Amino acid sequence: MFCKVIDRGKSRKLYLYSLSKKNYKKIKGLDSVDQKGQHMRWNSLRDEWVFYSPLRQSRTFLPSENNCPLCASVKGKTLTDIPVTDYEIAVFDNRFSALSIVSQNITKIEGILNEQSYGRCEVVSYTSDHNASLKTLSIEQVSLLMKVWSERYMHLMQDKNIKYVLPFENKGEEIGVTLEHPHGQIYAMSMIPEIINRQAINQKEKNIVNNLVKSVSEELEISKDDNAISFVPPFARYPYEIWIAPFKKVDCMNQLSGREIDSIANQLISSIKRLDTLFDNPMPYTMAVHFPPRGFEGNFHYYIALQPMKRDKNKLKFLAGIEQISGLMLSDIVPEVAALDLKSIKID
Ligand SMILES: [Zn+2]
Repeated sequence: MFCKVIDRGKSRKLYLYSLSKKNYKKIKGLDSVDQKGQHMRWNSLRDEWVFYSPLRQSRTFLPSENNCPLCASVKGKTLTDIPVTDYEIAVFDNRFSALSIVSQNITKIEGILNEQSYGRCEVVSYTSDHNASLKTLSIEQVSLLMKVWSERYMHLMQDKNIKYVLPFENKGEEIGVTLEHPHGQIYAMSMIPEIINRQAINQKEKNIVNNLVKSVSEELEISKDDNAISFVPPFARYPYEIWIAPFKKVDCMNQLSGREIDSIANQLISSIKRLDTLFDNPMPYTMAVHFPPRGFEGNFHYYIALQPMKRDKNKLKFLAGIEQISGLMLSDIVPEVAALDLKSIKID
């Protein structure tokens, strides 16, 4: 994997990753936006941080393809966030970041604990092809993307103030995607969210993901080969939730061979094809790439979780009263039935 770094000013960088060495033709790109106002306040009733980022209200909303900030740049046309004429995978600091590494003056509020929400928010453009999606990319391209996620994780964790790195994707207008170009995001934050901490503790002490990968029941399996498996977790929280993991217990991709990474990439592409075929309609989903938070390295089993947001062709799984208020999930689809439905779909 090759990487070219371009300084974009105001502490922002553009990282261009490729399978083979590339020469990039640079042109002018979108200017950086001053980072200000990002902060977090402690909700002492719930014992959790709430992040505030007023800057994000003015971010780009569903632009046409001609005005897409993630497409490669064309001289004389609309300026983009990726000011080169072609690329394979691009990662850059979000202009409308929810977190900031730039030191800020935070006004103290009487009786409320508040501080700067330190961290980075990166955008990952999967390809320069505006009309592609994860399922239309080749295994080589998705393998490269998986290596990029791992490389970003290791790079961002070099900052000792960063405790947790989460690559994720929101897919589909139904769940608030503001850019159609195939892309995901990475949040690198200075704290470990409570639910992530709990999951990491359970991975470390009870080996949950590793045990599932080794011994999940056959009826929950969707697909597997010698290196990786995709399955519905027996305690799925979303209808048609899918987890994809290598058999080998690793923190990240640098501990796997090229063939093992290709297997996971293949399972990821197939899983998304199954979800899109399930209701003959692109499935809106969130995808999380789970790396160990700081302090849990070496006691963690890397996995990718797809959380689809539809429970039927025209029915979205809304997080409503019980879910929003209590955090408890109600699902109409039993995991064994979901697995059977997904497994029975024929994909090429
Ligand atoms: Zn685009």
